[in-house]
Order: sequence, then C-alpha cells, then structure tokens
Amino acid sequence: MQTDFSVYPDTGLIKPAAQCPSPNQDARPAGVAPAMVVVHGISLPPGEFGGPEIEALFTNTLDFDGHPYFNEIRGLAVSAHLLIRRDGALVQFVPFTMRAWHAGDSCFRGQYCCNDYSIGIELEGEDESAYDDRQYVTLQQVLSAIFDAYPAISAREVAGHCDIAPGRKSDPGPAFDWLRLYDGLGTP
Ligand SMILES: [Zn+2]
Repeated sequence: MQTDFSVYPDTGLIKPAAQCPSPNQDARPAGVAPAMVVVHGISLPPGEFGGPEIEALFTNTLDFDGHPYFNEIRGLAVSAHLLIRRDGALVQFVPFTMRAWHAGDSCFRGQYCCNDYSIGIELEGEDESAYDDRQYVTLQQVLSAIFDAYPAISAREVAGHCDIAPGRKSDPGPAFDWLRLYDGLGTP
C-alpha cells in the first residue's frame, strides 16, 4: 500500500502525520531554512516501547516521578520535529518552519548549532536493538517528501545524532542500518 507523503512548505507540516504540538520550539534564525536531517533514537523508559512517555516528554507533561530513570531527565525541555513509532506511525511535534530542540551542542560539516538548520526525526528504539522494518519504510517516505520540499537536503545531508555530537550522543546507535536506509532512497 503506497501512502502519499508530502510536506507543505508554507506551514512546515507533513502529511500524513498525527499532530501533537510541542511548546519546546522557537523561531529559526532569520533567513535560515532546513538544510539537514538529524536521525535520533529514543525510548522511554529506555528499552521500553509503545508507551505515551515520549509524547509526554515532548509536551512537558511527563510525570518525572513515574520511573526511576526519569529523575535523570527531570525538567528537560526537548522536542523533535517528528517521531516514528515502532509500527511506522508518524507523529509531528514541531513544524519544519520552526526550530525544534533535539540536537544540543552539535556540529555538521563545520556548522555548529544544528537545531538552527536541521529537521530532527526520532525513531522509537535503542542503540543496540534492531529498528522495525516499518520504521525504515516510513523514514524513507518522510525523507523523500523532505527532499522534494527542501532541495538543499539530499541523502548526503542526513546524519545521526552520534555524528553531529560525537562522544556525547550515541543514537540512533549501531543497530540503525544506514546502508538499508540509503538503498531505500535509491542512493548508491
Ligand atoms: Zn538524539
């Protein structure tokens, strides 16, 4: 079944994502458009999939007393533009026209502050566990739609959080199969 993914450049929304607006966003610097994509992995609590905690974290409604691990992230105000669930379902928290708070201290090809000019995509997962087939399918469709909407971005401008914040971040981890992603994008 082919689903039609497309980005509306005026609003920065992508179809067919479910919308779950995050307050953790602000304006990109004047004149700056998306120029790269950062791929992340996240699970809350770590290693557990399918719960509502990621949406809760990104909307500042997580009960930080709900799990011992949450103490480590208490008060964190973060977001990403998109989340791809294990079943491939797509959720949008921040329009691409706005800056999401996902990269932190980061650098890509000599340019710092990747949040300013990137689109952040979280895959529900963890570094050492295989990502789900359906996540690759959705990610490939999302990226194709992003490439269409933002000509500055091609497969060469898709990096992992581990690549832009080496030593500090490890996601999406060795379990993420970059060659498989590239194959699906038709990139040699
Ligand atoms: Zn990350």
